[in-house]
Amino acid sequence: MYLPPSGLFTGLLEPLLLTGLWTSDPRLRDCMRHLRQAMRESAGTVMVDQKLFRKCVGANILLLTQAFRRKFIIPDFEVFASNMDQLYYSTQRQEGGHVADYIPQLAKFSPNLWGVSLCTVDGQRHSAGDTKVPFCLQSCVKPLEYAIAVHEIGTEHVHRYVGKEPSGLKFNQLSLNDEDKPHNPMVNAGAIVISSLLKPNSNKAERFDYVMEYLKKMAGTEYVGFSNATFQSEKETGDRNFAIGYYLKEKKCFPENADMIAALDFYFQLCSIEVTCESGCVMAATLANGGICPITGERVLSAEAVRNTLSLMHSCGMYDFSGQFAFHVGLPAKSGVSGAVLLVVPNIMGIMCWSPPLDRVGNSVRGIHFCQELVSLFNFHNYDNLRHFARKLDPRRLSLDDRNKSVVNLMFAAYSGDVSALRRFALSAVDMEEKDYDSRTGLHVASAEGAPTYFSGIKLFSHIACTSPYCSGL
Ligand code: GLU
Repeated sequence: MYLPPSGLFTGLLEPLLLTGLWTSDPRLRDCMRHLRQAMRESAGTVMVDQKLFRKCVGANILLLTQAFRRKFIIPDFEVFASNMDQLYYSTQRQEGGHVADYIPQLAKFSPNLWGVSLCTVDGQRHSAGDTKVPFCLQSCVKPLEYAIAVHEIGTEHVHRYVGKEPSGLKFNQLSLNDEDKPHNPMVNAGAIVISSLLKPNSNKAERFDYVMEYLKKMAGTEYVGFSNATFQSEKETGDRNFAIGYYLKEKKCFPENADMIAALDFYFQLCSIEVTCESGCVMAATLANGGICPITGERVLSAEAVRNTLSLMHSCGMYDFSGQFAFHVGLPAKSGVSGAVLLVVPNIMGIMCWSPPLDRVGNSVRGIHFCQELVSLFNFHNYDNLRHFARKLDPRRLSLDDRNKSVVNLMFAAYSGDVSALRRFALSAVDMEEKDYDSRTGLHVASAEGAPTYFSGIKLFSHIACTSPYCSGL
């Protein structure tokens, strides 16, 4: 088959992109390398013969088969992506809120910036808006820091120092629970204590590199940066956090020998780590996928660390709106003062929303609106009934239309003796036992039409019996 570069796109890459896979997916590295090489070597026209085809898909055959057989968690990704675009545009109209201005590095952002990226547990990706602009994680780093701590030192050890209960107070309150521990890891006091638990015997640089390594793995090696200017500003304006630090020290909240100032410094550094919507959604997807990064397949966090993290995000992740968010949206999420909302739809996908204007309690106005709209359209709320509640869409299922279309196509191929179409259906996991309105299978139709060329087509059905009342003993 001769394909000009544009044909290569329409013939191979476009169908691939429609499944939600991106050509930058690390799992497709070999496939893309071979394709690029073939393009370079042929001046203009690429001949995709059997040899080149095998070479390109060979290393990725499992992934590509899964993609084209629509075996990913969102089988009809094209429709899903267009629904997400609609949510994106309707949310864009939400105005109001104020961009945080306590440091110039946050105040500089335009209130019009708005981006959403998602990555499913199978690594299907979609983005809309300003999804390549770096911003600081700020408080969105708290669940990630906590997950790393539990993964490294265990639940029991971490919770010797931090509680698990929502505080009902502002995130930067000088307040401890009845046992004189910070209320939970999602408030500043909790995150500051946890930063003293990570790599206690290493120097500052090692500790920073160590967390960055984890974050890069969660992001599938996509963009994770650091804003030194934000870090310096956070330190200079961090009187409240210093006050929390001294209070924690007075109440003996840190492990013995811990250096409170070093813990604070580390906390400011963590808040200043940068991502984009695109890389941030892969981090969220790693949490959605039980700790395994969907696009690299690497286990980054233990299942226990992820479960703990999602539980605490669910109850404490959205500042003083956490209870209402759990009620209305019913999904684990964490927001930050930069306007980021890291949202996890467990076992389905991770989402990163980003838009700087914040509401009264500090959540991104567009971020919150988008999350609410998302669960009004799809049955993603933790307590949505998946069996009897038909009003919402379930993107995990192929629509009835798609299933009907596949029966009709199957019957027509059988009727007209189109053996290569039948073979294609069999290879792409179409259910060859599918029946029409008269309970006739493709086998029945193919046999009833009786041309000799159907013989090899009939072989594709040879393992099934036709139960149609119109069938006379096949
Ligand atoms: N750096 C901020 C602080 O510690 C984080 C604020 C936030 O995102 O909640 O106060």
